[in-house]
Amino acid sequence: MTEAVMALDIGGTKLAAGLVERDGTVRSAVTCPTPATRDPEEVFGAVLDLLAPFEAPVIGIGSAGPLDPFRGTVSPLNIPAWREFPLTDRLRAARGAEVVLAGDGHCFALGEYWLGAGRGSSALLGIVVSTGVGGGLILDGGVVLGPSGNAGHIGHAIVSADGVECACGSLDCVEAYASGPSMVRWASSQGWSGRSGRELATSAREGHPVALAAFDRGARALAAGILSAAAIVDLDRIVIGGGIAAAGPLLFDPLQSWLAKLTGLGFLQGLEVLPAALPDAGVIGAAALAYQGSAQLNS
Ligand SMILES: [Zn+2]
Repeated sequence: MTEAVMALDIGGTKLAAGLVERDGTVRSAVTCPTPATRDPEEVFGAVLDLLAPFEAPVIGIGSAGPLDPFRGTVSPLNIPAWREFPLTDRLRAARGAEVVLAGDGHCFALGEYWLGAGRGSSALLGIVVSTGVGGGLILDGGVVLGPSGNAGHIGHAIVSADGVECACGSLDCVEAYASGPSMVRWASSQGWSGRSGRELATSAREGHPVALAAFDRGARALAAGILSAAAIVDLDRIVIGGGIAAAGPLLFDPLQSWLAKLTGLGFLQGLEVLPAALPDAGVIGAAALAYQGSAQLNS
């Protein structure tokens, strides 16, 4: 039998799982809605049901945060039933498999590094621009977790100090400008009348000046965060995915133009900024985490 791992992607609206082979082939994949419940066992039951058809020695998990990858506990903001839920221990006990856990941003970056737009990079930052702005840093062939397990949180890089409030409680984080809800909030304050990121993208495509300005403002903050991160760790590539990045040129055109304006130092000029290449980095990223273990993915 071909070597394979179980991969699990935990999000606030959807759970996804699959059996993924060593070359990245997804042998089978299943999804279900995340149970809207206060009962932690009900959510765990849904996870067990999802994994039931699969058999493999290792389970890789990418989960919405916050989480503690070392203790193996998860407290996803959008899954209120789980607070400090000991997911790693519970799955290990239930399935007799080795379990590795990391944040969804980490797994996104790992997946793109393994099989997507991050292949061949030697210092990669993966960024997910969606309801929030998450990320993961890949250095020397492995994901950087950091001592608390939260490295790569580019959404909470602070890009100025003028005072736009962020969901994290700080001011002027990238996320306070560049997440879907932040763009929508700002556009609404400027008289735009839609409600969602998708509507904002439609308005921008139709040339609505406020919608275009919202993307430009988000892209400017994103460019500032990207260049700050690149200056600190000498990145050679950025890969951007998520619902807002799916707007394509609406985000990437102003982003490239802000990057061109804001890039100073010579070593930053070769930085490549690319859209994500994998249609569903969640399951692939969780599989990449399982395969990575302590070794390097592409070595
Ligand atoms: Zn923040």
